[in-house]
Amino acid sequence: MTEGKACEGAIWRIHLLRSTDDTIAAISSAAGSAARGIIRLSGPAAVPTVEQIFSCSDGRRLSQLPGHARTPGQLCIEQDETVPAELYLFRSPASYTGQDLVELHTIGSPPLLAIVLESLLAAGARPAEAGEFTARGFLSGKLDLAQAEGVAATVASQADAMLVAAGRLLDGTLSSRVTAIRDKLADLVALVEADIDFSDEAIEFITPVDVVRRLAAIRSQIVTLLGESVAAERLDVLPRVMLVGPANVGKSSLMNRLTGLDRSICSPLPGTTRDVLTAPLDLDGLQVLLVDAAGLVDGPATELDDLAVAAARRAAEQAALLVFVVDLADGGFVHHLDLIGHLPHRPTVVAANKTDLLADGGVDACRSRIAARVDALVVTVSALTGRGCGRLVEAIRQSLAGRKTDMSAETIALNARHRRALQDSLGAVDRAAGLVVAEQVALDRADLLALELREAMHHLGTIAGQVVTEDLLDRIFSGFCIGK
Ligand code: GDP
Repeated sequence: MTEGKACEGAIWRIHLLRSTDDTIAAISSAAGSAARGIIRLSGPAAVPTVEQIFSCSDGRRLSQLPGHARTPGQLCIEQDETVPAELYLFRSPASYTGQDLVELHTIGSPPLLAIVLESLLAAGARPAEAGEFTARGFLSGKLDLAQAEGVAATVASQADAMLVAAGRLLDGTLSSRVTAIRDKLADLVALVEADIDFSDEAIEFITPVDVVRRLAAIRSQIVTLLGESVAAERLDVLPRVMLVGPANVGKSSLMNRLTGLDRSICSPLPGTTRDVLTAPLDLDGLQVLLVDAAGLVDGPATELDDLAVAAARRAAEQAALLVFVVDLADGGFVHHLDLIGHLPHRPTVVAANKTDLLADGGVDACRSRIAARVDALVVTVSALTGRGCGRLVEAIRQSLAGRKTDMSAETIALNARHRRALQDSLGAVDRAAGLVVAEQVALDRADLLALELREAMHHLGTIAGQVVTEDLLDRIFSGFCIGK
């Protein structure tokens, strides 16, 4: 069972050719144990299939339940064994898939959910493929393709900005803007084709000047949409918090302490951390990627060091925040702070490490010396004992809190497929405009003009799914999880 995880190689072509008249079932809650697990069925036989293993607490038959219902009951898993469950019923057409849809909510134990699913399959349901519930919703007109992508993006999103972007796909913002442009093209095609059809008669449906004007307006809307949008792929990136500083100051130790993982290599020999290491970190609900790069060396360095330092600088370019680590037990630590000036300019927190090696008064004096030299938050810590690490996490959180994401209230995020469709459409619009030479459309060119306009419509139509190909559906829905 691969529920909760993108399934590779789902062969959609086969399922699109199959009818949607059968009833599909899958575990649709996330993989692993949880308080609640969900099994979902969709199809004309969803209710009778579930009825074979579920009985309502009040003795009613499922056929007696109203269109939308929620009812407690018992799931029969072995001959005499039952487990409590809640049944949610959404009758066709008012459901996510447009078909009869039933959800069984029960205890989120993976072996139990597997048994329930097996029983439903034995009762006649077929295991759902990745994305098949959403695909059924699409095929029954419940949501368009861009919205279906919004479902997948919501499930997959790791960063807040991506969640906002996915929401904007889901609520149809992109689809409606693209459809409005496509409608303008459709109006233009209709007029140009009417001109062709009635070319023998003295009726002019549209003047060349009007064609040029309309094409310019359509072009500008496509260009605006492309120009105003951000690349969706760029949003699904967690903010990077980079630990940076000279070698041997305790960056890897801090990384281990903060993430609780033993991912970095700690060693008393300077320059042991050669590669850029990353680990996700949850700062009380704020997800970040903690990056531990090679030590920046102040002074002569070997060729290998140069490479490692260059990698650290490149990594710092991508950082949302730098945590510059200094070793308070090193007499020259204040001079190391000058390295900050050699790094890309980023919000910076100074982690003054190894406080366990100093007396309390010494720590305060060091903090003042740092504060006098750099304009950054200073947090004194000991990676060895963990002292001050809570304050460091809080300082990181605070420094990232006001961070602007790429998503303003109106921004639309386009994925690679949307951008390609808009660009292809723009290409066809430009070719169409090129046919209207000196604002004259010769009759033999009007056919070509109509063709290019239809081509532009075709590309725009692939975004919301007015135009679909099996290959397109294959690519979109195979990226889904099973159960969604
Ligand atoms: P990096 O090169 O900056 O990644 O430094 P490491 O994390 O590898 O640490 C270098 C050495 O300093 C190791 O021997 C660590 O055990 C030691 N170290 C790191 N943090 C502390 C600390 O807070 N206190 C003490 N006493 N030693 C530390």
